[in-house]
Amino acid sequence: MEGIPFKEGLFTWPLSPGEQAFLLGNQCKACRKIYFPKAALCPECLKEDALEDIKLRPRGKLYTYTVVRVPSPGFKVPYAFGYIDLPEGVRICCQISAAEPEKLKLGMDMELIIGQVREEAGKPILGYLFRPVKG
Ligand SMILES: [Zn+2]
Repeated sequence: MEGIPFKEGLFTWPLSPGEQAFLLGNQCKACRKIYFPKAALCPECLKEDALEDIKLRPRGKLYTYTVVRVPSPGFKVPYAFGYIDLPEGVRICCQISAAEPEKLKLGMDMELIIGQVREEAGKPILGYLFRPVKG
């Protein structure tokens, strides 16, 4: 896929065709809390040097969403935007890839993809999105 990640280090990139993408977070070895994006020190127990990098599970459930119909520069409307709850107890805020946003249902199973989130000077800017799991 062509494009530039909107920020380095948030997800596995580049990917081979068909390769599963992962969000990159970290986990505190002392209190086991998981963070995305990565925390510099654990805000829960304030321990430094206790954080280790992990890949988050690429599936979750749709917690809530909204459909954006008013365009901002670089964004194509309508698009959905919402929160996905991962099994690790992390809530991810991101765009939602859905051909028919009206078919989204709270609590439905969602999967991570890397795709275009906006455009800048005619170039695709990539980010992480979730979409409904097929079938
Ligand atoms: Zn901690």
